[in-house]
Amino acid sequence: MLHDNLSINQLGHLTFAGVDTVDMAKKYGTPLMLIDENRIRQRVRTYVGAMKKYFGEDAAPLYASKALCFKGIYKIVAEEGMSVDIVSPGELYTAAQAGFPLKKAYFHGNNKTDEDIAYGMDLGIGYFISDGYEEIDSIDRIAGEKGIKQRVLLRLTPGIDPHTNAKISTGKVDCKFGTPIETGQAEKYIAYTLTKQNIELMGFHCHIGSQVFDTEPFCDAADIMIKYIAHIEKALGYHASILNLGGGIGVRYVESDPYIDIDENLRLVSEHIKMRCEEFGVKMPTILMEPGRSTVADSGMTLYTVGTVKSINDYKSYVSVDGGMTDNPRYTLYGSKYTMMVANKANQPADFKCTIGGRCCESGDLLAEDIYIQKPQRNDLLAVFVTGAYNYSMASNYNRIGRPPIVIIKDGADRLAVRRETFEDMVLRELD
Ligand SMILES: *Cc1c(COP(=O)(O)O)cnc(C)c1O
Repeated sequence: MLHDNLSINQLGHLTFAGVDTVDMAKKYGTPLMLIDENRIRQRVRTYVGAMKKYFGEDAAPLYASKALCFKGIYKIVAEEGMSVDIVSPGELYTAAQAGFPLKKAYFHGNNKTDEDIAYGMDLGIGYFISDGYEEIDSIDRIAGEKGIKQRVLLRLTPGIDPHTNAKISTGKVDCKFGTPIETGQAEKYIAYTLTKQNIELMGFHCHIGSQVFDTEPFCDAADIMIKYIAHIEKALGYHASILNLGGGIGVRYVESDPYIDIDENLRLVSEHIKMRCEEFGVKMPTILMEPGRSTVADSGMTLYTVGTVKSINDYKSYVSVDGGMTDNPRYTLYGSKYTMMVANKANQPADFKCTIGGRCCESGDLLAEDIYIQKPQRNDLLAVFVTGAYNYSMASNYNRIGRPPIVIIKDGADRLAVRRETFEDMVLRELD
């Protein structure tokens, strides 16, 4: 099995986090998202522990909460002592509703409105990660109006191409995010920020991209950033006390993806950073990282009911399920690959080649093409693995298809954490 929270029981049913997935589908209906709470906690502990062990007591991982955002996840993360990164006032509101300690929240995004900034300050958010002059002006002005001094990191682009999907690559000079180091613009931006009375500049941030399997791009980014911190000390007399290296550690979606040892990865990156700090003569900054996908992806799984199974003579077979791009747009967006199986026939051979379609009125609404699964028929259950990240959080109700519920499994017990979106929910905001 792809991950050790997946197995097959005596009935030949797929189990997830120790529960029979067929039972879960009967109890809650489909499409259904299952979340393995113990695994998320284990992942968070790995990150929190490894960051402290390798980078020192102040180092911290921030959960990039855009990967999977609902109140329950902020509670889990808060209990485990992890900080969070949020990218919108909606995420911030959700974190606040969950009672997340917002001093440990970092407000990201390449276009925060003045309302967003004021809202963040009113809720007492710890840090803003500013992306551009306009934001610096607004943060300074609004902090002044509120009589506070706001802590800020600046998002810079180190000019790294991590060789991942172009749509999730964010560290290159030509990118909507960040201010480039290479062109000299970052230095002006830092100098400008340092003139602001109501801003306490804490350091720099970079994020190179997502689904990165190698440590090399992180080490390359660290090289550039440490060297740059040394340069800025000389040029501007400013020492960055925080360096946030962003997220991006890869996740195993299919057999051919490598397994990543997070602890070992962080150890390697830390050795590298220590070496560069010595080389460039800078005091090691407090290191932050922002794992999103790798915190939650393999703690999630989606169950669908199979509807139509259509074989087109001389072409291929289409298996249609009762969800699709509405609950998982990643295949449509990026061509992302997933591992799937017929959950109630898990011990049968996966010898049926097919393309999995969703139920939307779009021929591009697919979840996989030309994959092998057990031969399905109507009312069988299709399980899609590793859907914890960027599925629920990217879900829509296109075609007025309701978003699935989230059921959390902990120590073999299931509980409904987010209910299914109803027809009534869909017309709730419509006034006549
Ligand atoms: C998306 C994002 C992350 C999380 O990336 P993952 O690949 O999910 O770990 C972290 N930081 C920033 C700024 C992001 O945009």
